[in-house]
Amino acid sequence: MTEVIRVAVAGPFTDALDYRPPASGPAPVVGGRVRVPLGRRNTVGMVTALPAASDLADDRLRAVTEVLDSAPLLDSATSALIEWAARYYHHPLGEAYLAALPARLRRGQAATPGVETGWRITESGQAAQLERLRRRAPRQSALLEALQRGGTLTAIELAGFSGDARAALRRLVEQGLAETVTAPDYGLLQGLADESGATLNDEQQAGAAAIRPAAGHQAILIDGVTGSGKTEVYLDAIERTIALGRQTLVIVPEIGLTPQLVNRFQRRLSGRIAILHSGLADGERLNAWLAARAGEADVVIGTRSAVFVPLRYPGLIVIDEEHDASLKQQEGFRYSARDLAVLRGYRLDIPVVLGSATPSLESLANTLAGRYACYPLRQRAGGARPPSLQLLDMRGAPTRDGLSQPLIDRVRGHLDAGGQALLFLNRRGFAPTLICHECGWLAECDRCDARYTYHRGRQRLHCHHCDRELPIPRHCPGCGSVDLRALGLGTERIEAALTEAFPDTPPVRIDRDSTRRRGSFEEAMRRAREGETRLILGTQMLAKGHHLPAVTLVAIIDADQGLFGADFRAPERLAQQVIQVAGRAGRADRPGEVIIQTHHPEHPLLQQLLHGGYAAFARTALAEREAAGLPPARAMVLIRAEATAHDAPITFLQAAMQQAPVDADIERLGPYPAPMERRAGRHRAQLMLLADSRSSLQAFLGRWLPALTRLPQARQVRWSVDVDPVEA
Ligand code: ADP
Ligand code: ZN
Ligand code: ZN
Repeated sequence: MTEVIRVAVAGPFTDALDYRPPASGPAPVVGGRVRVPLGRRNTVGMVTALPAASDLADDRLRAVTEVLDSAPLLDSATSALIEWAARYYHHPLGEAYLAALPARLRRGQAATPGVETGWRITESGQAAQLERLRRRAPRQSALLEALQRGGTLTAIELAGFSGDARAALRRLVEQGLAETVTAPDYGLLQGLADESGATLNDEQQAGAAAIRPAAGHQAILIDGVTGSGKTEVYLDAIERTIALGRQTLVIVPEIGLTPQLVNRFQRRLSGRIAILHSGLADGERLNAWLAARAGEADVVIGTRSAVFVPLRYPGLIVIDEEHDASLKQQEGFRYSARDLAVLRGYRLDIPVVLGSATPSLESLANTLAGRYACYPLRQRAGGARPPSLQLLDMRGAPTRDGLSQPLIDRVRGHLDAGGQALLFLNRRGFAPTLICHECGWLAECDRCDARYTYHRGRQRLHCHHCDRELPIPRHCPGCGSVDLRALGLGTERIEAALTEAFPDTPPVRIDRDSTRRRGSFEEAMRRAREGETRLILGTQMLAKGHHLPAVTLVAIIDADQGLFGADFRAPERLAQQVIQVAGRAGRADRPGEVIIQTHHPEHPLLQQLLHGGYAAFARTALAEREAAGLPPARAMVLIRAEATAHDAPITFLQAAMQQAPVDADIERLGPYPAPMERRAGRHRAQLMLLADSRSSLQAFLGRWLPALTRLPQARQVRWSVDVDPVEA
């Protein structure tokens, strides 16, 4: 009989807590969940060990209330990964375990697949004429067509349709063309393999040949411009993995997990595919997770948290857009899905493929150090020509709401020639500033060190940092003047300027404001992709991985905002953004043109991008980081603190410094106020630690952090540790 049940529970505990076995019922298992008392609550926890004895006296141990899983949910390799991540990122163990589970399991619900709703064709639906529907309701007609092919359409398969597929299905049901059925379903998509891939070119073949599924660990960077056929290389490797009876985990940034991507995988692959992303209902997510764990999904495509999904027969891990900052969680459990994926592949002894058109400096450094193999794809697949990059000097140029006359002329040229133009500005709203023309008063958020963004459509001032919203003031609160003016550029303003300049070609705007409704983003992208709209404008939502084959002109409205950012990563982000957006142009048979509007055409970063591309930029940036002793040359950790009281964060961090063990290997910078000192009514400060080696930095944290929790000043603040931060 086991004496002690060690359980990782939610709460500020570095380690698992000890409990006594339950009075009756099934025995707890390692890797299974239990319900345990914690304070006055009952909570769900994960059993991490069944040791023979506890350090605590017997009478101090409380009993497990209920055993939720009589068989392990997590295999030992997955548990070990989670435990490693909790220690490396200095996050409470129980919270790390819970973060790795689907919501239903986190809440203590049964680990059994749920019953799902599906849709099936009716007799009158089978007889319905698609043509009539197609014009009036294209979405319904696409769904009806799929249903007419036979079988049941399950919720997960809706991911392959654009727009709000559920609403369209509801309408089909109302018209008697379809009916709902409930079926137990694992939430798996069946790969169709009804489309064959392109014949890989030499560069693609070299990359693909290097990926040997299930044959030992190797990290492989596929460094290929947009449209060079990286996805084809992944698909080739994934199909070979399926043939071996092994599973592939594909991790993509949230915004990259599109219906098109799912569709493409389904058309090309023969296996069963599970999808894991935040847009799924809890039941769908659980089913996909269970299918991955049971080995029933041959391919798991997921966002960040999918890095923790258990795999029964792991064979390959792919991380697409590995440079993307969203692969690092920025709140709570601040893990990097990319870094953990590489570690996981190493521990499972399987290959890990990282792909990007603009690899992170971290991955490039790993390549230079020989830790990653690198396969460049320099040519665009299918003979598409690379776009030509040009700088458009804004100094003294006549402009209209951010659009220079030469740019307007160029857009007109492309539209007249039957092309499509994409304009990129990474700032939503009408203008980032509202100013009083009489006295200079600025509309500033009183909870943040930031200005309100002026949203003309909604007639609101909105703080993008704390989400506070206000109606537009009619008078200046300073001097009473009514002459309040919008200063600076946002996508709404560009939209207005475009509408005026091109009255016959209404633009479509794609940003967080215009795509709030479920399915509206997919719908807008579909219209853009299919050429229904020829003038596309938007934020970074446009920059990532969406194929827009008809785009012939890409314009970056304002490169200057990224040139002088405070964050040492600002240049890297700008370079990535420019190259990613530029990659939207000239994908198919037409060469593209990329125009960058700037007041600083001589800036070295822009000159490097222009003449040497991203590679030239990255070489210089790596040398600069090396010289400055910044990542990836050295390891970095940020300790952040915040409080409503002005001095509390700095005071805490100063006290923390006093506790720091003497260690010459660790460079300490700060404490200093955070880049935006006040946000959402809280004052913020941080402390930066740098070291040549990750392990000495980890050892230092291990000795130091426990002392911080005991500091009296710690009770006055919220503080957190960010290992390998992507925002400094
Ligand atoms: P990436 O993932 O690098 O952006 P994709 O794999 O999506 O590139 O390929 C871009 C386009 O080129 C796709 O339409 C794809 O089908 C096509 N393509 C890829 N490789 C080849 C090839 N070797 N020959 C012909 N077409 C290709
Ligand atoms: Zn005023
Ligand atoms: Zn605010």
